[in-house]
Amino acid sequence: MSPSSFRFRYLLGLLCHIALALVACTPSTAPDATQALAVCGVQPNFANETQLKRWQNFPVDVHVDLSALPQASHAMYREGVERGIGLWAQATSGRIGAFRVSYDRSDSPVTIAIARGALPDSAIGITELTFTSDLIVSADVQLTRSHYEGTPFLVNDVANTTAHEMGHVLGIVDHSPFPDDKMWVSGNFTIQNHANDPLSLLTLRDINTLQQAYCR
Ligand SMILES: [Zn+2]
Repeated sequence: MSPSSFRFRYLLGLLCHIALALVACTPSTAPDATQALAVCGVQPNFANETQLKRWQNFPVDVHVDLSALPQASHAMYREGVERGIGLWAQATSGRIGAFRVSYDRSDSPVTIAIARGALPDSAIGITELTFTSDLIVSADVQLTRSHYEGTPFLVNDVANTTAHEMGHVLGIVDHSPFPDDKMWVSGNFTIQNHANDPLSLLTLRDINTLQQAYCR
C-alpha cells in the first residue's frame, strides 16, 4: 500500500487495534445454559477468517465515559455512541447484541470511553476483550475524538466507529478480509457513504459472521 493511500485510509477510515486477554476458566457449580440465538452456516460470512467468541446471554451492561470531551460535545457523541451500540441488535431483530447503556455504572462488563490522548499506532479505536475459552467476560473500548467534529456527519462517524468496535465486543475477534465490511480493519465509513444510515453499513457478511458466533 502506498503512503498516500494509507494516509487516506487513516484520515477517513477506522484503523483499529484489538487486544486479547484470556482469563482462567473458574469452575461454576451451576452454569447458565448457553442458548443458540441464530442459525449456523448462513452465507456469505467470513467466519473461517476470524476467531469467534460470544456473550453467554443478553442484555449486557455498557458504561459510556465521555468525561474526556468538552461538555458542549456530549450530546452529539452520546447520540453517535448509542446509535453505534444499538446497530447489531437492530440488524438481528434484537436477537444478538442487546445492551443497557449507562453513564454512571463503571462496574459494567463493557466500557466505552473517549480516550484523553492518542491511541497506540494512531488507532481510532481499540477494543480489549477478556474471555474464557469461548465466553466473553468483559470488554474495554477506547475511541479517539472524531475527525468530523464541527460537521453534520459527526454522529454518523461516531456511530460507525462504535459499531465496528462493538463487532469486536460481541465476539468477532479478527478483522474481515473484505474492505466493504464494517469489520474490515479500517471499517467501511468513507467520504462516499458518510451521509448514509449507519445501519446500512453493516453488511450481510458482517451480520452472518456475528450470527455464526451465536448459532450454538
Ligand atoms: Zn477492529
